[in-house]
Amino acid sequence: MTFSALGLADELVRAVTELGYTEPTPIQAQAIPAILAGDDIMAGAQTGTGKTAGFTLPILQLLSANPITVKRGEKAPIRALVLTPTRELAAQVEESVRDYGKYTEHKSHCIFGGVSINPQIKALKGRVDILVATPGRLLDHAQQGTVDLSTIEILVLDEADRMLDMGFIHDIKKVLALLPKKRQNLLFSATYSDEIKQLADTLLNQPVLIEV
Ligand code: AMP
Repeated sequence: MTFSALGLADELVRAVTELGYTEPTPIQAQAIPAILAGDDIMAGAQTGTGKTAGFTLPILQLLSANPITVKRGEKAPIRALVLTPTRELAAQVEESVRDYGKYTEHKSHCIFGGVSINPQIKALKGRVDILVATPGRLLDHAQQGTVDLSTIEILVLDEADRMLDMGFIHDIKKVLALLPKKRQNLLFSATYSDEIKQLADTLLNQPVLIEV
């Protein structure tokens, strides 16, 4: 199995090849075609399985396949949102988005708590196609009107079980209320508690189930 055979564009295959990836991991082999097809997914995957590329590569491709025109002087919309439980993971995911998207035109940014909000406000005024964020700080921005989530086409909940363990369910629900109803949802969780299943029930629309 190759990345090209999964339907990924040359600009993405080139980036992963340069990183030394020779073939997709099992989660990538399953998630990439499903996400490219526009399906919601619920994936049981631990860290280290390659899940980040599993959602990032098809998101980058979907954004390229459906370009939007932005009028001169208008701000480009944020198109994909990745929520993570910790700032370390947010920073790591965003670095991966940059690596995998280096031959695309898409811009990413990451925002998390515990640091000054002003540089984040400034960055959010520029072009951000893919935003990676922790829930609390994202809500601070939403409440201050410094982020507009009404244009999100694809939502990723990364390590959803950890987000629930850390007590983020209320924040997540508040974020969900700010998103458009019609969107693609990708849920990644290492474990399946009743709480995760409940969240999946409210969030996902006929998801493809992936277990690795
Ligand atoms: P993740 O589970 O997304 O945190 O990825 C774990 C590690 O696997 C990261 O260091 C990635 O760079 C690496 N990785 C992801 N996909 C592949 C692949 N297809 N082949 C080799 N390494 C990979």
